[in-house]
Amino acid sequence: MSLKAVYCQDKAIGALQVAFAAGKLAHAYIFAGPDGVGRFLTARQWAKVLLCHNRIESKGPRPTLETPGASLFVDSCGKCPSCEVFEGDGHPDFKHVYKELLPFTREGKNKKPPVQLPKPVIDEFLIEKVASRPVMSDCAVYVVSEAEKLNNSSQNALLKVLEEPPKHCYIILLCSRLENFLPTTLSRCQIVRFGPVDQERIAARLMEMEIGPKEATYWARFSEGSIGSAIAWAQLQLEGQSCFEIKTELVRRISELRLTDCVEFAVWIVAAVKQISDPWMASVSDTSKKDITRRVQKGLIRMIIAALSDAMRLKIAEGGGPECVIVNSDQMPQISKLAAGFSATQLADRIEKAYENIHWVDANVNEKLLFEELLLNFAGSAMITA
Ligand SMILES: [Zn+2]
Repeated sequence: MSLKAVYCQDKAIGALQVAFAAGKLAHAYIFAGPDGVGRFLTARQWAKVLLCHNRIESKGPRPTLETPGASLFVDSCGKCPSCEVFEGDGHPDFKHVYKELLPFTREGKNKKPPVQLPKPVIDEFLIEKVASRPVMSDCAVYVVSEAEKLNNSSQNALLKVLEEPPKHCYIILLCSRLENFLPTTLSRCQIVRFGPVDQERIAARLMEMEIGPKEATYWARFSEGSIGSAIAWAQLQLEGQSCFEIKTELVRRISELRLTDCVEFAVWIVAAVKQISDPWMASVSDTSKKDITRRVQKGLIRMIIAALSDAMRLKIAEGGGPECVIVNSDQMPQISKLAAGFSATQLADRIEKAYENIHWVDANVNEKLLFEELLLNFAGSAMITA
């Protein structure tokens, strides 16, 4: 793969190209944007360019206000020893720093992967290493994932390196929440922003991967511009059912929910979380089981929120409001049933409560209780009677 093949992040890549062409590349960057929009992929491909022994230049895309770019587009050659080793995931000058490295640190030996990005990981995999000379290329590139999870002491430890990074070293912090950084960290880094990817382009990309149009449309709309998330959900191979079949069943059940079904339905959701997170876990190597489980739990709650929001949009459109895009366009009878069963205020209240449940996922609330609470609140005062 090359930088040119990175999908739909022309603006962010254009900013890097402009800085490179002007000889003004910073040594510390923050790539900021929602999860799954291609920050890591861009960082990786940009690192490959920086490490390449024989970079190639081609004519750049025409710069616009929206997508600035240099007149020449610099990319990796794909053929030199550096590029070959890079593709084999063994480049000695490309360092990926992430929280799951904790058990491999001196201090964190035998500890479980943490929720925060702990200081020993930053100390031992970044700060202690940056002074070393590159082994194979002219520079070394450090990419720190989930940098929004750096606590203040980790950020303070990083400050000195960010202030005066060794000339041969580039540091890229990937983050989804800029507000979690200390002002001192922000002021030492160049920020490159990554925007959400257009839904139609995501759907087109999924269909290129032989995902059917109905599923591709759903995942593109559900993922709200996160192409990585859309691909992960759409491609996951489960035993028996696909994720799309699980979501279809989830929306069907929610549209028919009765108070007496809540406990059994919560058990079904807990089983669905396991059914999805086990194969997901097997498909990634650098994310902890806990993080994957939380991602799936939040995903299923977001599926419920998407159905409620669809019902709300339908109500507004039926009341003479503008035409709207329905995420669950494949399940219109269920969405209509939800819209008929609740007032707009009741739907808004349930959507708000479901978002609260998403926050509880991070607070380690018991999984079954969490879903029971969500469903009981949903079915509680305004039962669907139809
Ligand atoms: Zn090369």
